[in-house]
Amino acid sequence: MNTINPFESAMTQLQNAYSILQKAESKEQRAKRELKNKIEILKSPQREVHVNIPVRMDDGRMRFFQGYRVQYNNARGPYKGGIRYHHNVNLSEVKALAFWMAMKCAVADLPLGGGKGGIVVDPKTLSQKELERLSRGYARAIADCIGPDKDVPAPDVNTNGVIMGWMTDEFIKASMRQRVNVSAKEKEALRATFTGKAIADGGSEGREEATGLGGLFVLQAILKKLKADSGKLKANLTVAVMGFGNVGYNMVKFLVNAGFVVIAVSDSKGGIHVPSGVNPLLTLACKKKNGYLAGCYCSGSVCDLSKGRPISQEALLELPVDILIPAALENVITKQNAPKIKAKVILEMANGPTTPEADEILVKRGITVVPDILANSGGVTVSAFEWEQNLKGEHWTKDQVNKKLKKKMQLASDAVWDASQSLSTSLRTAAFVVALGRILKAMK
Ligand code: NAD
Repeated sequence: MNTINPFESAMTQLQNAYSILQKAESKEQRAKRELKNKIEILKSPQREVHVNIPVRMDDGRMRFFQGYRVQYNNARGPYKGGIRYHHNVNLSEVKALAFWMAMKCAVADLPLGGGKGGIVVDPKTLSQKELERLSRGYARAIADCIGPDKDVPAPDVNTNGVIMGWMTDEFIKASMRQRVNVSAKEKEALRATFTGKAIADGGSEGREEATGLGGLFVLQAILKKLKADSGKLKANLTVAVMGFGNVGYNMVKFLVNAGFVVIAVSDSKGGIHVPSGVNPLLTLACKKKNGYLAGCYCSGSVCDLSKGRPISQEALLELPVDILIPAALENVITKQNAPKIKAKVILEMANGPTTPEADEILVKRGITVVPDILANSGGVTVSAFEWEQNLKGEHWTKDQVNKKLKKKMQLASDAVWDASQSLSTSLRTAAFVVALGRILKAMK
């Protein structure tokens, strides 16, 4: 059982960035007290909403579910962040995730703030109808505090485009009850309240793959800098990826297309190690057929048992690869395994995969950790594109979306890299410094 409080981890990161900013500020003779006050503001969310959602179950009983929406900071624009369905959802976790969203949107330089929501529920225990009633109930309960210019939710763990579609529909109905003379165009723009929708409901091209593709663009940008710096990385880089869901699968697909050799992947039931390199499409097909990855060793064009072997989650993290990509859960790189990690670069595609203690160990060991708020910001970037398209009544092609995504990821990577060089600090602290600098400027 993981006992690390995610909000405390988030506040440690804020404090580290503040220490660096404080030094930079004193050099420029700025008012330190003003900075301190603004940092105090960022130590708590602007608003925490707690809702009780009554749901009629299929057998006629009523059940009551607890839900949250945390609106952390909107200095740069409407709050933005996903809605998570999980039995472990709690206020501390939602607050930490909302804080990280504020930082992530600022690193990617999006005109958005940070928020997050969640419902305490194991969605696998609900029927489809019960899931729909719960989702619509949550949308009604938070309808007053969301909207295209207030707060723009999206999918997160265990929520998806279908759920966003139900919520959008319910939100529009709730809004219509309170307004008169709303034009069809205005009604359409209300779709911008939720992102991650299906294309038919106003979703964006490229959103599903965006986090993985954005991760590739960030990785390529950072590798370019590292090679120029030290020449320590070679061609045909090897990669191990923990997690084979939306982010993990797309990441593997784009990496393989770009010439990387992905030698190990895992899911919740176990992992596979294929030294000659996995074939993402075949591996996905095997996972769909079997329901899990272990026992499938897909390389080349066939599922070939002679080319691979099963591997545990722990062993995957410690493989002698060039790049390690945690793309599943939080707190998987700990002070216990950090000393044993052999990768030269860690690309954090999951949110919060490294504990603060492990982070210190990795920095001391000279391992480059590309932080989550930069590495996985491609998802929220295309969400922001979806919001923009809905507001403008436009629909961009996948090619347009991916070109804009590439540019945003390159600019964000450059800003974080430059800050880490000029302040002689890790990429994580540099990312927080860049984000904080932008948020503080907007607060002013
Ligand atoms: P997902 O539910 O689609 O996939 C999660 C994957 O992790 C699954 O393959 C699951 O089997 C695997 N997994 C679970 N426990 C594991 C374990 N112990 N070891 C190895 N694998 C395990 O979720 P996702 O959307 O791919 O999100 C993954 C991570 O990326 C999360 O931390 C999420 O917050 C973060 N993230 C996702 C997006 C997005 O656009 N989907 C954007 C930013 C960040």
